[in-house]
Amino acid sequence: MTKVVNYGEVQYGFAKRYFEEFLSERKGRIEKLLKPEKTPVLLMDIQGVKKKYLEVKYHFPEFNVYYAVKANDDESVIRALVEVGAGFEVASSQELEKVLRLGGKIEKVISSNPVKPPEFIEFAYQKGVRTFAVDSITEVKKIKDIAPRSKVYVRIAVPNEGSDWPLSRKFGVSVEEAVEILEYANDLGLVPYGITFHVGSQCNNLRNWFIAVKLSAQLWEKARAKGLKLQMLNMGGGIPVRYNYEALSVEDIAYYVKGLMRKYFPVQPYELQIEPGRGIVGDQGIMVTKVIGKAKRGSENWLYIDTGVFNGLAEALGGIRYPFFLEREGELKEWTIGGVSCDSMDVVAKNVYLPEPEVGDYLYILSAGAYTTVYASNFNGFPKPEVVPF
Ligand SMILES: *Cc1c(COP(=O)(O)O)cnc(C)c1O
Repeated sequence: MTKVVNYGEVQYGFAKRYFEEFLSERKGRIEKLLKPEKTPVLLMDIQGVKKKYLEVKYHFPEFNVYYAVKANDDESVIRALVEVGAGFEVASSQELEKVLRLGGKIEKVISSNPVKPPEFIEFAYQKGVRTFAVDSITEVKKIKDIAPRSKVYVRIAVPNEGSDWPLSRKFGVSVEEAVEILEYANDLGLVPYGITFHVGSQCNNLRNWFIAVKLSAQLWEKARAKGLKLQMLNMGGGIPVRYNYEALSVEDIAYYVKGLMRKYFPVQPYELQIEPGRGIVGDQGIMVTKVIGKAKRGSENWLYIDTGVFNGLAEALGGIRYPFFLEREGELKEWTIGGVSCDSMDVVAKNVYLPEPEVGDYLYILSAGAYTTVYASNFNGFPKPEVVPF
């Protein structure tokens, strides 16, 4: 007899193996945290965060690695990364202040947001930041006025297809526009320093890096032809983590990027940078929630949990598909998972296969370490997940 592949079993099997593996790799440290009285909580493996950083550093040995603080700005995460010597990418005065307060060195802080509030530029400049991203004439003028003689690097637009959380339309310019921006910066007494791009967050498409590096090489050459000698290439973020499918590994991406660099940058830039956010923290956190209700709506099985898209799971709205696990056996059913608030947008996931839970059961959400607590509000009076570092 041929066995019919059951999609629900495949999906839940993946989540179950992931959960078991996550626990077995953290034996002796995590068990006592799995059944907290008060939920939701985000269990953050701080040793795991350090390991992830060191893994990125190992595979990208020629790069300066700046952790993008917006992915998870918990003090425990920042402290851990300070301890292993990471750099930090910040976008606001509050992020910068926090990094410095927790021991980060200003020489290891960059800010790659190409459109910054003037107050932030001023604060960063006063603290000692001398390198800023730009992608418009307006931003170049701002930098010239507020942070004179700084170095600037220009953000180019690159494809974001195949990234679950694309970012490209908001920022970035064409190669031609980038040349003009760098020339203008040069005319204003700033130092045209380099190029940056972002392939899109949770990027599982190597082609995005391919096009991005190729466009960067074109811009590098065009700038050189105008007498501008660039020195730095910043490859942004995009390193993916496992959600309900396997992701490209850091090693795969590094191997591929090295090949691209050999081909398109025979003379290596003086400085190389990357800014992973999700890739450092995403799969080091597990959210512990409780089931608060169940209902049958037409043919749909609904289950409700004590957190939601406004309390930490905002990325569920934009295409991130978390793996879910419950400690029950039995036949799998297809569920729609509703969030805790009264808002009808507050739906955490659809088409999730799980054994039937009861009210009060713990529901574990894997790969919840990035872009969760940082997005959380107290909407409708429900608490943000408490971060529990371990
Ligand atoms: C958000 C962001 C990152 C981090 O992106 P990930 O996809 O989480 O790695 C890096 N650089 C900049 C400028 C960003 O805005």
